[in-house]
Parts: sequence; structure tokens; C-alpha cells
Amino acid sequence: MTSQPVLVVLDTPYEGDGIDLAAAELIGAASAIGEPVVLTTSADHAAELGSLGASRVLVPEAPASLIDATEAACEHLYPAAIVFAHTVRGRDTAAKLSVRRRAALLTDATGLRRDAEGVVTDHSNYGGAFNSVAAATHSAPVVTLRPGSVDARATATDAHVETIAVAPSGRREAKVVSATPIERTSPRPDLVTAERVVAGGVSLGDADTFEGLVGGLADALDAAVGATRSAVDEGQVAYEAQIGQTGVMVSPKLYIGVGISGAIQHLVGMQTSDVIVAINNDPDAAIFEIADFGIVGDIFDIVPQLIDDINARKV
Ligand SMILES: Cc1cc2nc3c(=O)[nH]c(=O)nc-3n(C[C@H](O)[C@H](O)[C@H](O)COP(=O)(O)OP(=O)(O)OC[C@H]3O[C@@H](n4cnc5c(N)ncnc54)[C@H](O)[C@@H]3O)c2cc1C
Repeated sequence: MTSQPVLVVLDTPYEGDGIDLAAAELIGAASAIGEPVVLTTSADHAAELGSLGASRVLVPEAPASLIDATEAACEHLYPAAIVFAHTVRGRDTAAKLSVRRRAALLTDATGLRRDAEGVVTDHSNYGGAFNSVAAATHSAPVVTLRPGSVDARATATDAHVETIAVAPSGRREAKVVSATPIERTSPRPDLVTAERVVAGGVSLGDADTFEGLVGGLADALDAAVGATRSAVDEGQVAYEAQIGQTGVMVSPKLYIGVGISGAIQHLVGMQTSDVIVAINNDPDAAIFEIADFGIVGDIFDIVPQLIDDINARKV
């Protein structure tokens, strides 16, 4: 194993009192190809980042934009790769960095590893229709990693904190004039990082039924709630639950689709889940083509029984 540094750029430095939910996964992925070094905005969570496997924590000496700080960190480290979460902010900063440094940009990776030639990334394309492997031929790649796609976790270390000087680039930045924090309306696990997801389709019919069946099954399994766009459009569930091309990408260990047809725009958001279970009364529904387990039947019969059975096993 090489000890070349790999720069991990945290998306949002802190969520509430904790660190970025994707930190463990990004550090774990980086550890597979080198020494994980984390860029963040404060040394407060250095010990926690060390416990996740960060060997070094870089902190700008004065407040700086994320892109300027990332560029300074690259100059400081000359990393083998720069890794972001494939989130709105991660994608934005990764794209800017690749332009500034004329570096290759490998987006939405589902794996990060080395082959005989160097760092490569794995990608799942067109709803899992085919997989591809990408490599940068001329630079350390800038990589965005799909949340939930890497299981590897790094060994805990005592992270060493380093302060880095960041020269403001003076380049124009988008200015945030106001922000309304998204209030998490549910105590359920975060959809993007959840290990288990129960998603419902428009066939649930209305918000109460959606909550009773999809929410009930999610609670029985301690899972997050997801949905198709059609269910969101019908007002059965909030937009934040939408999985797919115009929603969020999820890659849980277990995904259960309740009355979901399996349109390609939905599949692209969940097809890298480890185990996919589909419940649908149409045996020809497209989702069965990618499901590991399929139940052909009526969701209004099956899901209440599932909830009762799972809850009965808990006591
Ligand atoms: C540009 C664009 C972007 C899009 N982005 C997204 C996106 O991000 N995410 C997304 O999900 N969609 C997206 N869509 C919409 C997508 O094309 C599909 O329309 C949508 O995913 C279908 O949702 P659905 O499975 O809930 O509904 P439907 O396709 O109507 O399927 C309902 C399913 O429920 C089954 N069913 C009905 N009753 C029962 C029952 N009692 N028991 C069991 N099964 C039952 C039916 O057999 C059927 O398979 C997008 C579309 C476009 C054009």
C-alpha cells in the first residue's frame, strides 16, 4: 500500500454537533488508495476525524472559500487524488477545482481503487445497464463519490492537525444572500446515508396511506423513507424523499420498493443498492429486472403483514 496522501474535502464541515455524515465513507474510500488527509474548517473535530481514519487534518489559518482552501491544500500536499462527496456542494467545488488545476474530473464514482497503472474509479451507468472504469491520464483525478457506495472504513489514527495558509484567489464566487436551512421533518435516518431505505410509489394513493405503509415499514426496519417522483408530485410525501435523476442518489445495503414500476429515472438513483426488494402486483414491472427479491402481489395486503411480522420478531 502506497502512503501517498489523498485529499478528502468535507462537504459541509459540521452537521449539528457532528461531522459531515459522509466523512467516514470518504475517508474509508481514500484509505484504499493512500493516506487520507482531511480538509475541514476547524480543528474541533480532529479527534473524531482521526477515529474515522484521517491521518492528518488540514485547517485554513483564516476563513477562506472552500475552493480556495482546496486549491491551497492541493499545493500543500500534491495528493494522489482529491475526493468529494457527490452532493450539490461537492460537485460544485470539484468542478471548479478541476477547471482551476486543469485536472481530470471523475464524477459519481461508486468505487475508488488502484490498478497497475494508478488510481481508477468505478462507475455505474444508465441505471446500472453497464459499469465502467475510469482513469486520469494527465493529473491527479478530482473524484466525486456517490454516497453509500463504499463500505470500506479506515483504521482509527491520532490525527495530526496542520494549519495551511490560503491566499484568496479574488475570483468571483457565488454569494449566498440568504439561506433557509432544511428542517429535518422526521426523526428517521437521513435518506442519502441510510443503510436501509423503504421507498413508495404513486400507487400508495394518498399521504396518510403512504405514511402508514411506507413509513410504517421504514420504522419497523429503522429505515429512511424514499419515494418516486410521481408520489412526490401527487403530494403523498415531501420532495426531500424523491430518489432518482431529479432527486437524491441512494446506495443503501437494503432498498425496498413498494408499488414502484421501475422507471429509468428512478432506477438511476437506487440501482447500486446492495440488496433490492420489490413489491408490485404486475409481474412484468421493470423493477423486477434489477430486484434481488421480488414479491408479486398487492401492497395493501403484503405491507401490513410485513410490518406486523417484523415488529413481532422484535419482542
Ligand atoms: C425528466 C424526468 C425526470 C424524472 N425524474 C425522476 C426521479 O428523479 N425519480 C423518479 O422516481 N421518477 C422520475 N421521473 C418520473 C418517472 O419517469 C416515472 O414516471 C416515475 O418514477 C414512476 O413512479 P411510480 O413507480 O410511483 O409510478 P408508476 O410508474 O405509475 O408505477 C406504479 C406501479 O405501482 C404498481 N401498483 C399499482 N397498484 C398496486 C398495488 N395495489 N400493489 C402493488 N403494486 C401496485 C403498478 O403495477 C406500477 O408498476 C422523471 C421523469 C422525467 C421525464
